[in-house]
Amino acid sequence: MTTLADCRALDAQDPLRALRDQFTIPADVLYLDGNSLGVMPKAAPARIAEVVTREWGEGLIRSWNTASWFDLPQRLGDKVARVIGAAPGEVVCTDSTSVNLYKVLFAALSQQKDSDRKLVVSERSNFPTDLYIAESLCRERGFTLKLIDASELQGPDSVLSDEVAVLMLTHVNYRTGAMHDMKAITAAAHAAGALTVWDLAHSAGAVPVALNDANADYAIGCGYKYLNGGPGAPAFAWVHTKHAGQFEQPLSGWWGHAAPFEFTPHYRPAPGVGRYLCGTQPIIALAGLECGLDTVLAAEAFNGDQGAMAALRTKSLALTDMFIRLVEERCAGQGLSLVTPRDHAQRGSQVCLSRKNPEDPQGGSGAYAIVQALIARGVIGDYRAGDSQMPDILRFGFTPLYIGFEDVWNSVEHLVQVLETGEWKREEFNRKNAVT
Ligand SMILES: *Cc1c(COP(=O)(O)O)cnc(C)c1O
Repeated sequence: MTTLADCRALDAQDPLRALRDQFTIPADVLYLDGNSLGVMPKAAPARIAEVVTREWGEGLIRSWNTASWFDLPQRLGDKVARVIGAAPGEVVCTDSTSVNLYKVLFAALSQQKDSDRKLVVSERSNFPTDLYIAESLCRERGFTLKLIDASELQGPDSVLSDEVAVLMLTHVNYRTGAMHDMKAITAAAHAAGALTVWDLAHSAGAVPVALNDANADYAIGCGYKYLNGGPGAPAFAWVHTKHAGQFEQPLSGWWGHAAPFEFTPHYRPAPGVGRYLCGTQPIIALAGLECGLDTVLAAEAFNGDQGAMAALRTKSLALTDMFIRLVEERCAGQGLSLVTPRDHAQRGSQVCLSRKNPEDPQGGSGAYAIVQALIARGVIGDYRAGDSQMPDILRFGFTPLYIGFEDVWNSVEHLVQVLETGEWKREEFNRKNAVT
């Protein structure tokens, strides 16, 4: 059996331990929800205050030049590039993930508009906003959205055919934590003549991503999850350089113009990824995002040539392995089962559990109430409701920048207590909140 002492020994040997000092985390909180909203970098309040009081308050409009506001989306994009296997000049930070998905999917569909390909393929279990955006774009542009299970991508009966225009996938599934093999799937999509759009919302800052090595076409991702950019932080968009000069941006605002300050009446897109920008950028929010990005890039110091993500990945897998082992050793008989793949190659940086109530196998899973009881104890994970295809899920994100092995031990200890005492059955934990 694994012990608390084992976990403390792992923390003592952890080369990344010091990275935790970059964050403000409440003392009574064990935060396992960095996959939904990353914690606050210590540098953020002062940096944001500086942008507000000095750059805005004193610099005023001069700050577009003097404080380098103007090229902030590109400058931060270069930082994101370092964690997603892209090159400088290939990424911009702007808008939300949903809006960026609209832009990149439109661009990919435009490239296929003269072919007979009329299908956009995505996973049934994809994050809903991705499916909603794809649904409306397909309707508008005369394509059909086909939803599949991941297993249908493989083998001789693969859905990838000469009818598929775009394969749009989220690299790490938000509910299960299952991770796709981006390189193999991209190659299969290309062999079938389709373009790929990858959503990196649960990948950027969580797992190593190698967009150029995978020869992917388009990608987007989220700034406020593992990149710790703050609530509603700007997202990012990437395009492979082979498409960079050609793709069409539907939201053709002046910030994506080749020369916005010439104020000409006709749109002429900026040469590369800059055309992803639409309007004036949220500078204060971008300043927060930069603080978050710097916390991730700080891991580069621990793994020089291989970049930040190689070092973080080793620890992330050790943390999720430990959580799985402790749940299996200490919560046996409580009806929990593992939803996230055991295979490292298929696992993101989170662990999801489902539950069949052993006292009432036909009854509710109790997953929502168990998560609420844990939150009341300061152990913050989250819950995702099931449907006819998927069970209810208890979701725990492990951000290697600030989670340690003793934290894993303590979170499982709380889970054991919530289950063994039946604490979760209390009425207060069974009332639904607006945001789960
Ligand atoms: C979190 C997440 C989003 C979030 O989109 P917003 O526009 O930031 O609300 C989109 N897609 C996926 C796959 C996500 O996990």
